[in-house]
Amino acid sequence: MESLSERLNRLAPSATLAMSQKSSELKAQGVDVINMSVGEPDFNTPDHIKAAAIKAVEENYTRYSPVPGYPSLKEAIVGKLKRENGLDYKPSQILTSNGAKQSVCNAIMALINAGDEVIIPAPYWVSYPQMVLLAEGTPVYIDAPIEQDFKITPEQLEAAITPRTRALILCSPSNPTGSVYTREELEGLKNVLLRHEQVIVLADEIYEHINYTGRHASMAEFEDIRERVVIINGVSKAYAMTGWRIGFIAAPEWIVKGCNKLQGQYTSGPCSVSQKAAEAAWNGPQDCVEEMRQAFERRKNLIVSLAQVNDPQGAFYLFPKCSSYFGKKDGDRVINTSTDLAMYLLEVGHVATVGGDAFGSPECFRMSYATSDENIVEAMRRIKETLARLK
Ligand code: PMP
Ligand code: GLU
Repeated sequence: MESLSERLNRLAPSATLAMSQKSSELKAQGVDVINMSVGEPDFNTPDHIKAAAIKAVEENYTRYSPVPGYPSLKEAIVGKLKRENGLDYKPSQILTSNGAKQSVCNAIMALINAGDEVIIPAPYWVSYPQMVLLAEGTPVYIDAPIEQDFKITPEQLEAAITPRTRALILCSPSNPTGSVYTREELEGLKNVLLRHEQVIVLADEIYEHINYTGRHASMAEFEDIRERVVIINGVSKAYAMTGWRIGFIAAPEWIVKGCNKLQGQYTSGPCSVSQKAAEAAWNGPQDCVEEMRQAFERRKNLIVSLAQVNDPQGAFYLFPKCSSYFGKKDGDRVINTSTDLAMYLLEVGHVATVGGDAFGSPECFRMSYATSDENIVEAMRRIKETLARLK
């Protein structure tokens, strides 16, 4: 009998990957689609990183690595945390995984018991609540509307914490909103967390380098809470390495040990060749990171000027409101939700975006501007033309 587990039946598919898949299918049929759905840099991985991977193959880095990653890779991450974040971590506090996605999931699986509450500010990245559900935890959302620049306040955090709260997932710069918490804002949240010892912070910093404010702030900078912070980061966004699948956690040793045990039974150490490439990324020249950041900032300014919406401070997403279109029609087609709108924009306007429903913000939709200036201009033209048909 075809019957999947209840665990799996509870899980929603990834909306970002689903929209990207739809966009690829239309493209394969010959439709000229502009893909602003999935969030990934459109740049190629820098040459010196690719060269390190080729060398790794030639030098036979082709066998199982230690589960948490090669010692040299962990050293490179320790160096990165010191150099870029001023943070002291030991190699035993680092565990690398198949992308930051697995890093987040490992941490949730290692920490969350059935019924534990995990606070997730909404809008959120699509996978957080699903990972919590997989661990049989209970997602607890804090609404961070556009009027608050999509950020939660200390008062909201205090009100959401209960004796069952086990973790807070904080993503800054944020996917999908592009908002960035300042050091002062993080400090405000930290002061609340100090009063609730049982709460661990999962700090997703994968967009660290795609920041237009000039400074990235990390919750781990505060000594008095460092013992409860799990930093999540990786090479996907900073070095245009989404396909290489290397992410890491930097965390207290007991959490790293837990994730190590889980990963040892589940996937083992990440791809050996990718590890050597990631090592070269962190140890090598860093101008490529700044060049890409500048390109993203230029594109952000371009799309904000065309879309006339809020001005995000990081990541490469625009998350405008679209609820004024709900109830409108194009012929027989009625737009009732942001997912309807995203589907309409894809099928009629040939621009792939993602509805805000999957991000816990049904009144918005997400556009990734990690694409060329020409694509941005053309996509905005198509979107405006398509929306104008809705009456
Ligand atoms: N966290 C956030 C907020 C992301 O947007 C992504 C990218 N999908 C990830 C984690 C995972 O990144 P990776 O490609 O390293 O798995
Ligand atoms: N960060 C990307 C996004 O949100 C990748 C897709 C995913 O892993 O969900 O679109």
